Amino acid sequence: MTVTPDTLSLIGNTPLVRLAGPSADTGCEILAKCEFANPGASVKDRAALFIVNDAEEKGLIGPGGTIVEGTAGNTGIGLALVANAKGYKTIIVMPETQSREKMDTLRALGAELVLVPAAPYSNPGHFVHTSRRIAEETENALWANQFDNIANRKAHIMGTAEEIWAQTGGKVDGFTCAVGTGGTFAGVGLGLKAKRDDIVIALSDPDGAALYSYYACGELKAEGSSVAEGIGQGRITANLEGAPVDAQFRISDAEGLVQVHRLLEEEGLCLGLSSGINVAGAIELARQMGPGKTIVTILCDTGFRYLSTLYNAQWLESKGLVVPASLRSN
Ligand code: PMP
Repeated sequence: MTVTPDTLSLIGNTPLVRLAGPSADTGCEILAKCEFANPGASVKDRAALFIVNDAEEKGLIGPGGTIVEGTAGNTGIGLALVANAKGYKTIIVMPETQSREKMDTLRALGAELVLVPAAPYSNPGHFVHTSRRIAEETENALWANQFDNIANRKAHIMGTAEEIWAQTGGKVDGFTCAVGTGGTFAGVGLGLKAKRDDIVIALSDPDGAALYSYYACGELKAEGSSVAEGIGQGRITANLEGAPVDAQFRISDAEGLVQVHRLLEEEGLCLGLSSGINVAGAIELARQMGPGKTIVTILCDTGFRYLSTLYNAQWLESKGLVVPASLRSN
């Protein structure tokens, strides 16, 4: 038994769990990093801590400073908890379409929340551009800039990828996940390729994102749409530049949701939709690689963040998504 010296040391070193159902389906070992076990309950705590530590080392933020960021919510939660532990303030800009639970969590953490209408990246009102402007207008402020600040992917090169390598004893054949900023995908991909070049790195892209077509045929082209929060990218961010991509899949919300509800019913794990899309992608990669392989993916955040959406029958119906039996009865 050991004592963790401080709360920020709780970030990272997450468990790697074997998923029984997906493993049985494919004859592969489907293993998943439990990123919901981070103190902010998502994979984004890792990037938040690395970005703030990196900025401190470079003298970009000092005592009494304010961290400003545009986010779908999870990076904001990670930054707010890191800021509280280090004595900074946070201003978080978020599209108003994101889950109420994320907004409530940010307010509870003491962040100043700025909600903006969902808009394309080309629109100056987009949450990323709004956050940059607020940072420029705020004294002693750091713009975390998670999409193009590669301290984000370093968290996964030095953390997540090293952990996966150690936890599998180097026995890993494939890795897949979806992209928000690309920090997780590119960071784990680069980290694992540096260990062994034949590990297959596959992108699991949701509908409405442009990366599947980019990696398949060199053209950034989006088709369809997705209700998954935190993923779905339309450009090559700095974090994505040079990412190794051996294969790419398009995963629909319906396919991801099947895995989300199944992981809850069969394995007792309550997760967000990006986790379901990742598991659906891992099953696809396992089918392509054949039985006996070890495939790793990411369980990005807790489903308690989506009780009013993914785990709510009325909401699912309003989006034309299948309501599982467990939600129909109550
Ligand atoms: N899933 C969820 C729920 C997220 O909030 C994010 C971060 N935006 C991701 C996946 C993707 O992570 P990354 O930014 O590292 O691509």
